[in-house]
Amino acid sequence: MVERLFAWYDRHGRSFPWRQTSDPWAILVSEVMSQQTQIDRIVGRYLAFLDQFPDPDTLAAASAGDVLAAWSGLGYNRRALHLQAAARVVATSGWPTTARELQTLPGVGPYTAAAVACFAFGEQIPAIDTNLKRVLSRWVGQPLDGQALAETARTSLPDGEAVRWNSAIMDLGAQVCKPVPRCDRCPVAQDCLDPTVYVPPPRQSRFDGSVRQTRGAIVRVMLDGETRTLDALSVHLGHDEARISSALTALTAEGVLQATAGGFALADKRS
Ligand code: SF4
Repeated sequence: MVERLFAWYDRHGRSFPWRQTSDPWAILVSEVMSQQTQIDRIVGRYLAFLDQFPDPDTLAAASAGDVLAAWSGLGYNRRALHLQAAARVVATSGWPTTARELQTLPGVGPYTAAAVACFAFGEQIPAIDTNLKRVLSRWVGQPLDGQALAETARTSLPDGEAVRWNSAIMDLGAQVCKPVPRCDRCPVAQDCLDPTVYVPPPRQSRFDGSVRQTRGAIVRVMLDGETRTLDALSVHLGHDEARISSALTALTAEGVLQATAGGFALADKRS
């Protein structure tokens, strides 16, 4: 199975700038940026972000406004602030180099930690995301989760080939073994026990989407550094006050905004 998978990957694998480097900063940025955003839509933004913040030190020293402006349009502003918090830890203490240690960085979960540990530091570890879960579940013929998924992923990993294997599984899941699989063009079809195993992709509720949209709109308005009241934001954006209020509460709790005497303003954690 592995040889056929690798032969397919050599011909059809996707070429991304973060695959040409083992710089942990470049890899961490790519992983955070591609969470919940289509990967082929972020390449330009990724290159621009790294141009502005080429290492953890530059992001650590930036204002929250500059970070959020650079992140604008990518959604989930909290991720940008977590990335900055992680950069500050790295700027002060250096890089953790194992998946276990990387998870101590702000906003870095098991998947991102495994991806950085593998692609930057060569740790032989599977990066388990929904793509890998779907491919392996079909391959072994049963829906995998939790410990069973981790164990199957670990034992499937060929010795010393974690970088290639993780990349190949990602690309197979993105291009062939999609939620509706294209088994007719699959390089490992002869090893696959049950293509009908369905692993639903994580879904976002309509409510989350609408509040997220409002949160993004608020942050874009607030990037000018002014202080605004709930009323003013509601009038400016044309959204009802309840939704603005929910979004302000969430943005304040996440540290994106701060409540001030005159309303709400962009939080700058350096001050
Ligand atoms: S044969 Fe079909 S279900 Fe199985 S791994 Fe390939 S694309 Fe996925």
